[in-house]
Amino acid sequence: MNPGQTGVTHQKQTAVQTMDLAFDRQHVWHPYSSLIDPPPVYPVARAEGVRLYLEDGRALIDGMSSWWCALHGYNVPQLNRAAQQQMEKMSHVMFGGLTHEPAIELSKKLVELTPAPLQRVFLADSGSVSVEVAIKMALQYWQSQGRPEKSRLLALRNGYHGDTFGAMATCDPVTGMHHLFASHLTPHLFAPAPRPAFDQPCGDEDVAELRRLIEDNREQLAAIILEPVVQGAGGMRFYSPQYLQRVRALCDEHDLLLIADEIATGFGRSGKLFACEHAAISPDILTLGKALTGGTMTLAATLCTDKVAEGICRGEAGVFMHGPTFMGNPLACAVANASIELLLSGPWQERVSRIESQLRQELAPLRDADGVADVRALGAIGVVEMQAPVNMMQVQEALIERGVWLRPFGKLVYAMPPFVTSEQDLRQLTGAMVDVLGNL
Ligand SMILES: *Cc1c(COP(=O)(O)O)cnc(C)c1O
Repeated sequence: MNPGQTGVTHQKQTAVQTMDLAFDRQHVWHPYSSLIDPPPVYPVARAEGVRLYLEDGRALIDGMSSWWCALHGYNVPQLNRAAQQQMEKMSHVMFGGLTHEPAIELSKKLVELTPAPLQRVFLADSGSVSVEVAIKMALQYWQSQGRPEKSRLLALRNGYHGDTFGAMATCDPVTGMHHLFASHLTPHLFAPAPRPAFDQPCGDEDVAELRRLIEDNREQLAAIILEPVVQGAGGMRFYSPQYLQRVRALCDEHDLLLIADEIATGFGRSGKLFACEHAAISPDILTLGKALTGGTMTLAATLCTDKVAEGICRGEAGVFMHGPTFMGNPLACAVANASIELLLSGPWQERVSRIESQLRQELAPLRDADGVADVRALGAIGVVEMQAPVNMMQVQEALIERGVWLRPFGKLVYAMPPFVTSEQDLRQLTGAMVDVLGNL
């Protein structure tokens, strides 16, 4: 090739879209999307630091951490190296009858970092699957206690626990559109979403309905499942740690297991390594996912106490009845180990608390803007709740014009940026939010 032409060719490649977006529109499902009237999707060529680079060369500051995952940003040398080194040994081996260092190491870390009673680790392949595993653990536990009738769950309104059937049955019945799948969903019980905000006390009256549901149904209830302190996809609400303490006490009083779903909150997002720490409680079963590999690949984990594990294994089956093909995938475990080491070796608390105060301060002007119902921040999560649902496409496009990637849904426009986001990049992000939402 004539070297003089390389520049020209390169320019062409960046100026002209080479991805077959027409094929994408016709054939490829995106999350919660239509293939008759597909929404626009933006082609990403690569990602680096806190920026997504679109195929046309535009750089967007990522305010979503790819849905809570990319704590350290993108193309992180430590994570890449861990993946490459592991790949040269083995990318995957079955976990039935075999074990390996990355899984042992990761399980050790998880046992050490999570609340002390959580001692047993099940490595699953996605968040939803780890919730299925948690539910099956609770059911098998009560069967082994000779209480098979304890098979229903109590969940919270505005909760979100995943898209598979078992998990979906515990999601908010309205936003989760339970009626579409009614014949396949276990009819669980739902308590009102926690009322007291993060910094408010929680009184008897705030758990009255929850208590009534428990007292009326305790013979059938296996467990309470909830997202501790931060309700994520179902409403981006932050609630009082005292509420969580009361739930723990109610579970103890009425002999229910507590399942804490920390798939979104785990690994520092709420300002504590795990959101349960805000309330100094420990669940009987804990689910982790999303940020577990720092956003590199899918991996999740379900931890439980000795009591739960031993109960299950003394039951009729004698084993825990679950075992996915990619269980304990060595590549994912190796990257998870590197991500946890990277997180813990850096000043993550300072970073998260700096992000929290910056989000609070810089989003505050929106409090008085027309159409804004509430502005709130906790840890590295900033939420603007509007009075009415926003036009997602319009808001997304306006934010993109300002160099920012966010994914509003319903009334909520929110940011959970990578912990490594600089003060200046975060200012651009919040500035874009204020500019766009303040002028709707
Ligand atoms: C995302 C999420 C899930 C589901 O995880 P997937 O990896 O999408 O299956 C479950 N619970 C919570 C709290 C989540 O945020």
